[in-house]
Amino acid sequence: MSALRFKAVEEAFKKKALCVTPPSKFTTDYYGKYVFTKSVMAKYLSKDIMKSLNNAIEQGVTLDSNIADDVATGMKMWAMELGATHYTHWFQPLTDGTAEKHDSFIDYAAGPGEAIIEDFSGKLLAQQEPDASSFPNGGIRSTFEARGYTAWDPSSPAFVVDDTLCIPTIFISYTGESLDLKAPLLKSISAVDKAATAVCQIFDPNVKKVISYLGWEQEYFLVDEGLYATRPDLMLTGRTLIGHESAKNQQMEDHYFGAVPTRVAAYMKDLEFEAYKFGIPLKTRHNEVAPNQFELAPIFGECNLAVDQNLLVMSIMKKVARRHSFRVLLHEKPFAGINGSGKHNNWSLGTDTGVGLLTPGKTPEENLQFITFLVNILMAVYKNNAILKASIMTAQNAHRLGANEAPPAIVSAFLGTQISAVLDKLENSTSDEAIVMDAKKRLSLGIAHIPEVLLDNTDRNRTSPFAFTGNRFEFRAVGSSANCSSAMATLNTAVAAQLVEFKATIDAKIAAGATKQSAIFEVIKSYIKESKAIRFDGNGYSDTWKVEAAKRGLDCETSVPEIYKAYTTPETVKLFESMGVLTEKELHARTEVKWETYTKWIQIEARVLGDLSMNHIIPLATRYQSFLLDNVSKIKTVFTGEKADKLSTLDTALIVEIGERIATIKNAVDDMVDTRRQVNKLEHEYEKAVAYHDKVLPYFDIIRYNTDKLEMIIDDEMWTLPKYRELLFIR
Ligand code: ADP
Ligand code: MG
Repeated sequence: MSALRFKAVEEAFKKKALCVTPPSKFTTDYYGKYVFTKSVMAKYLSKDIMKSLNNAIEQGVTLDSNIADDVATGMKMWAMELGATHYTHWFQPLTDGTAEKHDSFIDYAAGPGEAIIEDFSGKLLAQQEPDASSFPNGGIRSTFEARGYTAWDPSSPAFVVDDTLCIPTIFISYTGESLDLKAPLLKSISAVDKAATAVCQIFDPNVKKVISYLGWEQEYFLVDEGLYATRPDLMLTGRTLIGHESAKNQQMEDHYFGAVPTRVAAYMKDLEFEAYKFGIPLKTRHNEVAPNQFELAPIFGECNLAVDQNLLVMSIMKKVARRHSFRVLLHEKPFAGINGSGKHNNWSLGTDTGVGLLTPGKTPEENLQFITFLVNILMAVYKNNAILKASIMTAQNAHRLGANEAPPAIVSAFLGTQISAVLDKLENSTSDEAIVMDAKKRLSLGIAHIPEVLLDNTDRNRTSPFAFTGNRFEFRAVGSSANCSSAMATLNTAVAAQLVEFKATIDAKIAAGATKQSAIFEVIKSYIKESKAIRFDGNGYSDTWKVEAAKRGLDCETSVPEIYKAYTTPETVKLFESMGVLTEKELHARTEVKWETYTKWIQIEARVLGDLSMNHIIPLATRYQSFLLDNVSKIKTVFTGEKADKLSTLDTALIVEIGERIATIKNAVDDMVDTRRQVNKLEHEYEKAVAYHDKVLPYFDIIRYNTDKLEMIIDDEMWTLPKYRELLFIR
C-alpha cells in the first residue's frame, strides 16, 4: 500500500487557511515600500541629480559617471535603511527566468586589512561582470570572449528583496551582442516609439513620444505541497507526465469565477500584500476555468516595467506559496485534458499627450489616427505571423496551443463585428460619403471614409490568439511561464517596421501631390485589402480553420523546432536589423538556444517518464498482477472445473491486460532510451531538436496511454502517485 501518497492526502486535508492580515490598513501606506521610485529618489538625491537621471530615462541620454556615483550613494543609503547588506545586478538571460549574483556592500576603506566600509559606487551600479559562461548564448561567447557584462537599466527602478538591493540590468557579451531578453525589448520599445511618433506627428505635431504599454494576465495552478512532493514529474518538469483524467474536472464549468477556496484566498491576499510592497499594482484575482487554476492581473504599465514586474511577481508567487504549503505551477500545461495556463499580453500604444492610439477617438482626426494604427498593426501581424508565433513557442507552450482550449498554433487577429464592419466599409468606399464613427451615439463624426465605431466593442473571442478588445490588442498565445519580453519585443519591432514603411509611403504620395488625407486613405485601403488573410473572427479551435488558414498562406507549422526557423529567414533578419533590435548573428544565436532548450526539456521529461515507468508503474502493476495470480491459484485450490474457470475469469483478464500493458510500457521505455542515445549524437542543435520532436516525443503518448489505463484497473491503495482528483480538488 502506498503510504506516502495517502499520508500526503491526509495531511493536505488537514491544512487550514493561514490568517493573513494587511501590513497596514491603507494600501497606500506601504505600496512600493521596497522600490526606489522617483518620489523615494527625491529624498535621497539632489534636484540636479534627479534632473540628469530623469533626462537619461526619458530621453535615453547616457548618464554621466559622477552622476551615477551620486545615484549609487543615495540608492545604497535607501537600501541599507531597508536592511540591505548586498546588491545584485538582476538580469534576464535567455532562460525565461531571472539571474542574480549577490555582492556585499563591504570593502576595505584604504587597502587590504584596513577598516571596512559599506561601499557602492556608480561604477558598480552601472556595470558588473558576472561569470556568466554558464548562461545560454547560442555560441556567441565561445567564439569571442567568455566574458559577459550586465549594465544598469535606469528606466526600471531598483528594489530590495530580503537583504539585497536588486538593480535591473541588461546582459551583453564582450563584443556587445545581447545575451538576454531585456536588451532587445528596450531597443524595440525605442524603435516603436520613433516610428509611431513620426506617424502621430502627421496628426498632431505636439506628440514627442509614444509609449508601448503592457498589461499581463497571469494564469497559474496551485497544488498542495505534500502532494507535489510525491510527484517526481511535477517536481522536475512542472507538469504531470502521467495521470488519468479525474471523473469530474471542468465539465460543470463551476470553477471559473467561482468562490475562491479559503486556503487559496489567504494565499491570494498574502501575495497581493507582497506585490504591493514592490509597487506591483495587482488589480484582479479570480478562479480560472480548470479546478485549482487561478489568475491575477495588474493595472497595465509601460512595457519594460511591466515585464520586470511580471518576472518579480512570478518569483513572489512561488515564495508566498511555500508559506501556505502550496506549490505554484506556472507550466503551460500541468495537467492533460483540462485547460492549460497562459499569460495574455494586453498591449497598446499611447502618446505622451495622453492619447491611446488604439482607443477610438472623440474627433475625426483622432479616429483617422486610430484606424491608421489599427490597420498598420494588422499589416505587421499579417506579415510577421510566423515570427510572432515563434516568439511565444516553447516545448511547454506547444502542449497548450492547438489543444481545444487555447489559441491554435496559427496567429490570426480578431477584430469583432463592429471594427470589422468599419474596415469592410472603408475598403469598399469610393466616394467621399460621410462615414460616421459612433459609440453609444456619442461619437458621431462627419468624416469621409471612417464608418461607425462603437466604443464598447465587447465581443469576446477566446479562441483568437491576437484579439482587439476595445482599446488594446490582447496577445493571448503567450505562455504562463514565459518572459513577456520575447513576444513584446517581436510585436513592437514588427509594428515599428510597418509604421516606418507606412510613413515613407505617405510621404512619397504627398510629395507627388496628394493631400494628406487622401494619401492616408489610399494606403489604409490597400493595407486593409492586403492584410485580410490575418483577420479571422470565427472559431479558432475548429478544424476547418486550419484548412482555411493554410489556404490563406498563414503559417500553420506545429513542430516547435520548425517554427523556430522563422527567426532566421531573410525577412526576419531584415526586420530586426533595420529596426536595430537584433543582428543576424544574435538571431542565429537565439535560435540555437531555443533549439537547445527544447531538446533539453524533452530530454528531461523523457528521463523522468522512464524513471516513473520503471520505479513506480511497472513495480506496482507487477505487485497487483501477482496479487491477482495468487487469487487465481487460491480459487483453483478451493474450486475445480467450470466453477473455478468462471470465478477466475475477471482476474485472468486483468492479469493479461496488466501483463500486456507492462510489456508495452517497458518496450517503449527501452526504445525511447535507445532513440535518445542515437539522436544525442547528432551534431546540430536543429537536427537534435527535430529528432527529439519527431522520434522521442511519440513514445510519451504510448507510455502515458498505457499507464493511464493501468491506473484505472489497479487497486487504488497500491497506486503510489497522487491522482488527478487529489491534485486538482484538494485545496
Ligand atoms: P480580461 O480578463 O477581461 O481580458 P483583465 O481585467 O483580467 O481583463 O485584464 C486586462 C488587462 O489589460 C489588465 O492588466 C489591464 O490593466 C490591461 N489593459 C487595460 N487597458 C489597456 C491598454 N489600453 N493597454 C494595455 N493594457 C491594458
Ligand atoms: Mg484578457
